[in-house]
Amino acid sequence: MARYTGPSCKLCRREGTKLYLKGERCLSDKCAFNRRTAAPGQHGAAKKKLTEYGMQLREKQKAKRYYGVLEKQFRSYYEKADNQEGIAGENLLRLLERRLDNVVYRMGLASSHKEARQLVLHGHFTLNGKKANIPSMLVRVGDVVAVKETESAKIKELVEAMGEKIAPKWLELDKNGSAKVIAMPERDDIDFEFNEQLIIELYSK
Ligand code: SF4
Repeated sequence: MARYTGPSCKLCRREGTKLYLKGERCLSDKCAFNRRTAAPGQHGAAKKKLTEYGMQLREKQKAKRYYGVLEKQFRSYYEKADNQEGIAGENLLRLLERRLDNVVYRMGLASSHKEARQLVLHGHFTLNGKKANIPSMLVRVGDVVAVKETESAKIKELVEAMGEKIAPKWLELDKNGSAKVIAMPERDDIDFEFNEQLIIELYSK
């Protein structure tokens, strides 16, 4: 499946915010966004007033890039969210949060969504006891995501460090490397700034 393979830090500069795409580096002094915040390109430093469409587009790109989802799949999340009961924007974020790779990230087993995706693709997890290696699988209440038994020293290290991170309240962590989904993620469980309404407005044109 196609993935964005260009420089991650450029995406943060384009969106004008830290997207935490490079794990530990994003929290260190080495974060490129700390040194340079201007958008990439020759005229990146020029302050441009965004049109309404521009703001909607940027918000959509920000969410896509934060969760590491490409356009086609992102649009399908929008369509699903729009058909569900409730507020479409919140439904959309809830769907993105329920992705298996995001759950691994929220469990504290990966320092970025990209790393979480890699761990899932490499088959390190089970969902309700069955092999789960598709990052876009959606978890439901009652599901258990667990690290597969492994000889990998790296994975064992990640499980040991799991307790150091705080998981959102919709996940119940077990220090042996598993998490139970005890509720659906709520809007205020998401600690990243999104204006999801702008995304909905963009797609509903
Ligand atoms: Fe973005 Fe900084 Fe992480 Fe690079 S290091 S991806 S600029 S947050």
